[in-house]
Amino acid sequence: MQFTHDWLPQRVRFAPGGAAEAIVEEVRRLGAARVMAIASDATRAEPVLAGVPVVVLHTDVVMHVPVEVAQRARAVADEHRAGALVCVGGGSTTGLAKAVALTTGLPIVAVPTTYAGSEATDVWGLTEHGRKTTGVDPAVLPRAVVYDASLMLGLPVPTSVASGLNALAHCVDSMWGPRTDPIDRSLALEGIRALRTGLPRVVEEPMELAGREQTLYGAYLSAVAFASAGSGLHHKICHVLGGMFDLPHAELHAALLPYTAAFLLPAAPEAGRRIAEALGGGDPAEAIGALARDVGTPRSLAALGLTEDDAVRAAAVAAPELPDDPRRPTPAELEDLLRRAVRGAAF
Ligand code: NAD
Repeated sequence: MQFTHDWLPQRVRFAPGGAAEAIVEEVRRLGAARVMAIASDATRAEPVLAGVPVVVLHTDVVMHVPVEVAQRARAVADEHRAGALVCVGGGSTTGLAKAVALTTGLPIVAVPTTYAGSEATDVWGLTEHGRKTTGVDPAVLPRAVVYDASLMLGLPVPTSVASGLNALAHCVDSMWGPRTDPIDRSLALEGIRALRTGLPRVVEEPMELAGREQTLYGAYLSAVAFASAGSGLHHKICHVLGGMFDLPHAELHAALLPYTAAFLLPAAPEAGRRIAEALGGGDPAEAIGALARDVGTPRSLAALGLTEDDAVRAAAVAAPELPDDPRRPTPAELEDLLRRAVRGAAF
């Protein structure tokens, strides 16, 4: 066994019902007297910001961080002489805080309210003229993350399960991502176990803390694994599809994962065996499809507005960029995979 694993330097707190106090402590640790808060929804953020020295609450958040949205937020940070950023929201909100940190170096305290996992990675993304560029920079890794599952009680069930499947996709791709190692895979498998327990519970009892907590724990592990392992085939295809057709991020991952898993898992029997075990047995790809079906995520790419013609165009763009571990599809196989995903053929 020979590998090198980099742990990202970050403080992580799980504080159910305790976000307000935890954020105050984390801001104090940073020594920041002037905080720029970023949130997609002020009503959701204000209660947890009560004790924080917020000089401005910025709510101009757009999914995939268009460059002009990032520039406006950076100007606001300058104007208010912010010394730290506190972001309260989903991946889009965290993404905007990262865009500000990228050019200003301001430290971030992240308070996630979805299961996207961006808070645990050093990856930033910006969109310009319909093209998303991503990069890795230590400056964008939040210094501290405060997970408070009670903030998720209001996240609608369809958004919750799509976001949870986005986390599951991080776990699955971490089994063979370009830098994967045994630590990534063990985190990913524990993430799968937590998501499998938590997500059905969220569907049954969306206002109960236990299911939300398990899902959040799984989402965190998934992101730590993914940040280290890097993007596999599933994420590469989603990146192309999302960019070409401006699709909702979590729903796209949720709808496509059963298809990419069914294609890849036969070529990765050891990963498949361990994923199946984490999901309670059976065929791993079927178990992933069954979990998606049971929690009610979108069943096809057509449900997101994609046509088979779109799938053919996307396959042509994506095919040359795909990794070959554990298996690289031929252009014809990729086209078939995407056509099937458009039709919802696996369910
Ligand atoms: P999002 O942040 O856009 O949130 C989805 C919707 O849920 C929004 O309308 C938001 O207002 C709402 N919402 C969020 N929290 C809520 C709550 N608690 N209650 C009610 N409504 C709530 O979507 P997302 O899926 O969380 O994030 C997607 C973005 O994150 C994409 O741009 C994606 O590329 C990025 N992302 C980045 C990384 C990374 O490592 N850099 C990882 C994952 C996702």
